[in-house]
Amino acid sequence: MSSNFVDYVKICCRSGAGGPGSVHFHRDKHTAKGGPDGGDGGEGGSIILRGNKQLWTLLHLKYRKHVIAEPGEKGSNALKTGASGKDEILDVPIGTVAKDAETNEVLFEITEDGQEQVLVPGGRGGKGNNFFKTSTLQTPRFAQPGEPGREEWKILELKILADVGLVGFPNAGKSTLLSVVSAAKPEIADYPFTTLVPNLGIVSYRDGRSFVMADIPGIIEGAHAGKGLGLRFLRHIERNSVLLFMVPCDSKDIRREYAILVNELEQYNPELLHKDRVLAVTKCDLLDQELLQAMQSEVPKGVQAVFISSATGMGIDRLKDALWATLNKPEQP
Ligand code: GDP
Ligand code: MG
Repeated sequence: MSSNFVDYVKICCRSGAGGPGSVHFHRDKHTAKGGPDGGDGGEGGSIILRGNKQLWTLLHLKYRKHVIAEPGEKGSNALKTGASGKDEILDVPIGTVAKDAETNEVLFEITEDGQEQVLVPGGRGGKGNNFFKTSTLQTPRFAQPGEPGREEWKILELKILADVGLVGFPNAGKSTLLSVVSAAKPEIADYPFTTLVPNLGIVSYRDGRSFVMADIPGIIEGAHAGKGLGLRFLRHIERNSVLLFMVPCDSKDIRREYAILVNELEQYNPELLHKDRVLAVTKCDLLDQELLQAMQSEVPKGVQAVFISSATGMGIDRLKDALWATLNKPEQP
């Protein structure tokens, strides 16, 4: 259960060996003893990572423990180079960091859609005997073997860290808010247990700036379903992230509901209480002006409250301003 949001995989990679060079001498009906014409071996297939913005997890690689690329083919006569081994291309989400499993050294990070980066290079093809021909060595009877492929363990880790994590009971309006503030919507429908996959959105802010908002299930809704469940998600709201608490305006008692959420969060993981918080009172289109005024005094103390409606757009810019300011406030010592 805890593994359907897969943000870490360890895979064994084996790149293809280079094909051997060919030893061959030119022959045809006019030429009995021609010069060397053995071609070079083909390149071995490499294992390559490619950024794919449609992907949001490493789930598809979880059960691919071994990734093997094809070897290159042998060179042949008439200077023909052997065919290259097929590369093995692994599509990965943006934000995937590749590490060497032995040294834990970071090799590279995939930051763009379509970006390709070689994880394990294939072996070079061997030179055919033609390559070794010199004025003093006219008939080399040898060629170079192909370079062997490499077998190496690699770690892929997904580094999507949300800046804002949404906290609220079911029906608080979390998904709706995410859908109105964010442009990018991850395709998550294909995964089993979709309700347990964090729903991430990129919120565009002024001047081309943006931040990542995540509806992270398992914190409140899943709390009773087992503590371990949501723990893996927490990695995604590490960093100096902000928690956006959401309470609907038609809640019987906003202060009380907020206190219950804080308490649930504490049960779940006390460290989360150290994070900065903002409170959104949601669905404010349900209130008239007078009620809205009256509500102002019912919000809990000690947390910045913003009245919003995802339906009408009311307060959404103010909410973004509040989140941005909180995210970017200078670190307190
Ligand atoms: P979640 O469970 O917290 O993700 O809540 P949803 O976003 O799924 O919303 C729960 C219900 O509240 C849905 O029927 C929404 O249409 C409704 N809702 C969400 N935002 C608003 C809002 O701003 N105004 C009104 N009137 N209804 C809303
Ligand atoms: Mg929802």
